[in-house]
Amino acid sequence: MISVLDQNFSQLNQFLKNLKPSKLFILVDENTHEYCLPTVLGNLETEIPFEIIEIEAGEELKTIETATQLWEILSEFEADRKSLMLNLGGGVITDLGGFVASTYKRGIPFINVPTTLLGMCDASIGGKTGIDHQFLKNIVGTFAEPQQIFVYPDFLRTLPFVELRSGFAEMMKHGLIADEKHWKDLSSIENLNPESIYPFIETSMKIKQNVVEIDFKEQNIRKTLNFGHTIGHAVESLFLQSNQLIPHGEAVALGMICETHLSCLENLINAETEEEIIKKIRKFYPFIPINAFSTEQLLALMKNDKKNSDGKISFALIDKIGNCQFDCAVSEENIISALHFYQSLA
Ligand code: NAD
Ligand code: ZN
Repeated sequence: MISVLDQNFSQLNQFLKNLKPSKLFILVDENTHEYCLPTVLGNLETEIPFEIIEIEAGEELKTIETATQLWEILSEFEADRKSLMLNLGGGVITDLGGFVASTYKRGIPFINVPTTLLGMCDASIGGKTGIDHQFLKNIVGTFAEPQQIFVYPDFLRTLPFVELRSGFAEMMKHGLIADEKHWKDLSSIENLNPESIYPFIETSMKIKQNVVEIDFKEQNIRKTLNFGHTIGHAVESLFLQSNQLIPHGEAVALGMICETHLSCLENLINAETEEEIIKKIRKFYPFIPINAFSTEQLLALMKNDKKNSDGKISFALIDKIGNCQFDCAVSEENIISALHFYQSLA
């Protein structure tokens, strides 16, 4: 499912040789066009005809309008069910490209070649595709697995630091919910840069892959991957509504701080563990003021989270470093306390 590419991209070439798609559609944004596409094209050894489809970079383009344009382009170039879509980019490209591929002609095959850390360790794995709609993130989408994920960590060399740090939050989450050693390794990194992160990328990818293999449709253990996301997503959506984008991972880091505090309020971890976790998250992440948003606004968004049922807000909470519970019902009072706690860290 996941292949780490060698310098010649031989795994990708072998894959294409076996699959023999009728045509290749390579989806890029303006940055991955500039920084990643030349490496891919320089290593492709194939006679398969291909088209490059470029969209502007950014979450703002993860919409039904862009999806419609992409369906039209696929149709114009006569894509059929033997065509293959290659999504070359971060989470926006793999979410959008996966969505378009999985819906066009009821689904054509696609592969993901993630180029951000967040894409490598999280977004490209697990078969969730989607678009945002009316300020709600990923509110429309499909469960559709890529045929394969090809990871080339060297792409991280051109990634802006803020994006690297964004992806790192998901890696920290993987440690907190599933692997204490991974957490320790990551939290003891001194300087975040591609080299300091390289040794841990594969472990992080495997943690996500293992979880989704057990529970693809998010009936049980996959819910643990939402740690930090119930509050993180609500904050991210409110920033989106006020046209101020914050990197997904920074919202998740904020959410993990709040939800670590919640884990303590719910007596799942003690104050010492809470303090240790929060200190290490704050070592990497800046404080993001959320006092412009009311607790009512935040709670309303949490209630609307597509992962809820029966109008209840449920959380994934950790009960020790490396273990996570899911479907935890939490009182609104405690959620509000966690938000106030975060704001008190200003
Ligand atoms: P992104 O795709 O917008 O990429 C971030 C920025 O980095 C963009 O400007 C992009 O052009 C640029 N970029 C990408 N690769 C580069 C490279 N190698 N060098 C230089 N610049 C590069 O954002 P992201 O953080 O990768 O992904 C965020 C998205 O992923 C969100 O929409 C989120 O909802 C989604 N997501 C999905 C899942 C899932 O399971 N499907 C999980 C987590 C996040
Ligand atoms: Zn996430």
